[in-house]
Amino acid sequence: MRILIVEDDDSVAEALSAFLTRAGYATARAVDGAEALEKLGSDTEAVLLDLGLPDIDGIDLCRRIRTHSGVPIIIATARSQVQERIRGLRAGADDFVVKPYDVRELVARIEAVTRRTHPLHPTPGDHAAVDIDGVRIDLVARRVLVDEEPVELTRKEFDIVAVLARYPGVAVPRDRLIREVWNTDWQSFGRSLEVHVASLRRKIGRGDLIETVRGVGYRLMER
Ligand code: CA
Repeated sequence: MRILIVEDDDSVAEALSAFLTRAGYATARAVDGAEALEKLGSDTEAVLLDLGLPDIDGIDLCRRIRTHSGVPIIIATARSQVQERIRGLRAGADDFVVKPYDVRELVARIEAVTRRTHPLHPTPGDHAAVDIDGVRIDLVARRVLVDEEPVELTRKEFDIVAVLARYPGVAVPRDRLIREVWNTDWQSFGRSLEVHVASLRRKIGRGDLIETVRGVGYRLMER
């Protein structure tokens, strides 16, 4: 897996890159926001983003990446920057580490965010979009169109439909959905799952698109 390190400090970036390489990751480095946008590619599996960059506010960069990519983003901030962390999470970052951080903690966080988001990312060979009965689920742009009209979905709602869209016609067990969408095995998220599915059905307006499979979970109708 390839990690894009966005960091203007050479010594920090080099140490990080060396550690991540030893931990089995491939790394790429960008010294500023412009280079980050240039180097972000379909093979980038996570972005480690330093918020203090020379050319652009890291939060703005985060937002910009989010307009076209669902790649996991971990922001790195100083201990005092609580507001920055909140702004970063609101701008679409998946997690953060506080400087100076232990690189082992960073690796654990990278593993957690990629586990959480990877099933939702199309990989080569996956379908980039699924079309069923006038509903288009675009896994790359992370949006759903009904009769070519975009539907406003929350992030979790999209995550749920994205997991189902990867296996049209297959009953996806509830525990698997909870694990992939909430990254937990805690079954009390079941109620939350039901509420999100009900909301999805209402917004998409195709009653039979997401079927309940009694005692198992949910299934997306086959085209
Ligand atoms: Ca910096």
